[in-house]
Order: sequence, then C-alpha cells, then structure tokens
Amino acid sequence: MTINDYKFAGKKAIVRVDFNVPLNENGQITDDTRIRGALPTLKHILEEGGALIIMSHMGKPKGKVVAKYSLKQIVDAVSAALGTPVQFAEDCAKAAEQAAALKAGEVLLLENLRYYPEEEGKPVGIDKEDPAYDEAKKAMKASQKEFAKTLASYADCYVNDAFGTAHRKHASTAVIADYFDADNKMLGYLMEKEVQAVDNVLSNIKRPFTAIMGGSKVSTKIGIIENLMDKVDNLILCGGMTYTFAKANGGEVGNSICENDKLELALDIIAQAKAKGVNLVLATDCVVADAFSNDANTQICSTTAIPEGWEGVDAGPESRKAFAAAIEGAKTILWNGPAGVFEFDNFAAGSKAIAEAIATATDNGAYSLIGGGDSVACVNKFGMADRVSYISTGGGALLEAIEGKVLPGVAAIKG
Ligand code: AMP
Repeated sequence: MTINDYKFAGKKAIVRVDFNVPLNENGQITDDTRIRGALPTLKHILEEGGALIIMSHMGKPKGKVVAKYSLKQIVDAVSAALGTPVQFAEDCAKAAEQAAALKAGEVLLLENLRYYPEEEGKPVGIDKEDPAYDEAKKAMKASQKEFAKTLASYADCYVNDAFGTAHRKHASTAVIADYFDADNKMLGYLMEKEVQAVDNVLSNIKRPFTAIMGGSKVSTKIGIIENLMDKVDNLILCGGMTYTFAKANGGEVGNSICENDKLELALDIIAQAKAKGVNLVLATDCVVADAFSNDANTQICSTTAIPEGWEGVDAGPESRKAFAAAIEGAKTILWNGPAGVFEFDNFAAGSKAIAEAIATATDNGAYSLIGGGDSVACVNKFGMADRVSYISTGGGALLEAIEGKVLPGVAAIKG
C-alpha cells in the first residue's frame, strides 16, 4: 500500500517517526529538523480524517525509564508543529484505552519506546559470553513479538516514516509490520523520498556517475566502495583515507592518519578500479599541518612526500581541481565524507571545492545525493544545502542502503 492510496478517514494510524531530537539541559529542542521531516506524513493522515498514534525513541535509555529521554518534553513542540493538541501516553505498552478513545483528527504521542528493552530486542544484564545468553535472547525475541503486537493492537494501519532507524530490526520499525496485512502498512513520505534517493544512485543511474567518498578511514567505507565500484564512472576517494593509499603506493606520509593494516586493501581497490574501467581519482597534493589545530603552520606538498612531523589535513589545490573536473561533468553524484578536517576553517577548502562542484553540476541538471552526517554538515557550513538535489536524513541507514544491504524497515513493508 502507499500513503497516497490509503483511505485514512475514520482509521487510526500508528506511525513510527524519528523524534530523537537533540535537547539542551533545560529539555528544550535545539534542532527540530526531524520533527519537520515527519510533518508531511502526519499532516496528510490528519487532513484525510485519520487519527494519529505517534511512536518514537529518544536517546539510549537502554530498556529503562530515564527522565531525560522522556518524549513528554517534546509534546508542546509537536503540538505546535501539527497545529493541534497532542495527548501523551505515559507508558507506550499500556496505551490501549487512550488509543481506543481517539477520534478523527486527534493525536496521541507514546512515551519513548526504548524504555522497554523489547523495542531493540536485545537481552539486558547478560553478557554475550554467558552460556545462558542464547536462551535469554530467545526469550527476548518472544517478548519483542508480544510488545510489537501490543503496539499494533492500537491501530488499523501502520506507517513507517523513520528512515534513521530503518536499518534496525526493532519492534516498532520492523516486527510490528507482521501484525498488519499488506493493504494496511506503508512507508511515509520521508521514507519514500529516501528510498527513491537511494534508488537514483544505485539503480536508476544517469551517466556519468561520480561518487565521492571521504572521511577518516578506508576500513569503515570499504563495503560502500566495493558496492559502488560496479556502478560508478568516477570514484573520488579523499579525506584521511588518502594517506593509506599514498603509503600503499610507496609514499612517505609523515604523521598523517594511515591504516597500516589496510595497505593491501588499498592496492586491491586500485586494481579493481582498473579492471572495471572506473576512473579512480585520488589526491595528488595536500595541505599538511605541523599540528592538529586550525592555527598550525601549513604547507602544500605531494601526498607521497609528506615530511616527518607533518600530517595531511586537506586536499591540495591540484587535487581540488581534479575532483571538480570529475564532478562537474557528472549527471549522478553521491557524496559521503569530507575531503579534509573541515571542522577547522583552514582545512575546509577541499570539502568546499567538492560542495561547489556538486552545486554547479546540480544547477546543470545532475542528480546529487548527500548523505552521512559530516558531508551534510559540510553543505550546510558552505551554505549550499539548497543547491543539491537531496540531503539524506539517515546516517547509518543510508550507508547500509548504499552498501546494497536490504533495510529491515523497508523490507517489512515492501516484502
Ligand atoms: P567519517 O566519520 O569516517 O566519515 O570521518 C569524518 C571525519 O574525518 C571528519 O571529522 C574529518 O575531520 C575527518 N577527516 C577528514 N580528513 C581527515 C584527515 N586528512 N585527517 C584526519 N581526519 C580527517
């Protein structure tokens, strides 16, 4: 079922959203992006004459009631965003009466799902090495089903709009879907958009396709690099992983971040790119600093001849040009991870050059997807958020999707 086709009039919808918003010490929301992200779905259901039961997690209370993670703190903000009063259920597993009393247009927000260990389905207070662990896990999986069934019993249909947790098989993100037939469960608008964005870079590709992978380490990005290798025309590998490649090629990298146990892997990636006809773009020059600080002394040098006592902190001018050239002609672009320590203004030029090239390509009709916290922070820092096609709201979920993994939250609905 799709959210546009479902007839919500007179129905109760239980909607999983990601209201895990940051709060300050006074319990005030410091960034309401996630609440705004869910509004199209929530408003649509209310406008169509449905009643809403909203559920979410907040923080990591690890299966216990922890006041600082109470969703009660956001009731007023959700109410203001929806433009209607929001009722609150103090115990998400004992909300049957409140749910049953809801009338069309009314809204009930459930307390933090993760106050119950059943939400995540991991046994608590028992070590993985303990011989009784497997039994405890089995018992927890059984109670997770009961918990999901209880949540499902509140509503006529289930909507999942929490992309940020779509890579988790939790009670509210996946298990609950077993208690609704295919005609009564659907993705929300945010999830639909995210799934479409991933499809645009994995299946529905307009060529040339340039992927830019940065960040600190090659080891955390290897799954994605390998999955993309079969799809891209240009692959820019930048950021901290530059120096693992430079060393693998026989270079001197000084104090740069370098994974010495991944040198073989780096050579294998270079060989794979060659075999598959992928244009692999690695930095040839870099900004080096004599300390990990914005005020450090800097110089430009080759990525394979970094003096002792200096570390590579950003892409150099020649590399920025090469990156921009591979981006500006592209029709599909994926960016994850900065090209340098962009948090320091003096080491942000490489990431800025990438963001500018992506914005230019997008102006010229390319589809650009930006995902992963740091590259999102980059486009925001450089004021280019409006000049890219889509900024993903999911960190881990987006990365797993790009690795080619099936997201349990999506599979539970689409099969
Ligand atoms: P990741 O979480 O792996 O995507 O890495 C993001 C982090 O990588 C950012 O905080 C950057 O500051 C950092 N980073 C990028 N380039 C470098 C570099 N050359 N040396 C050290 N850290 C880097």
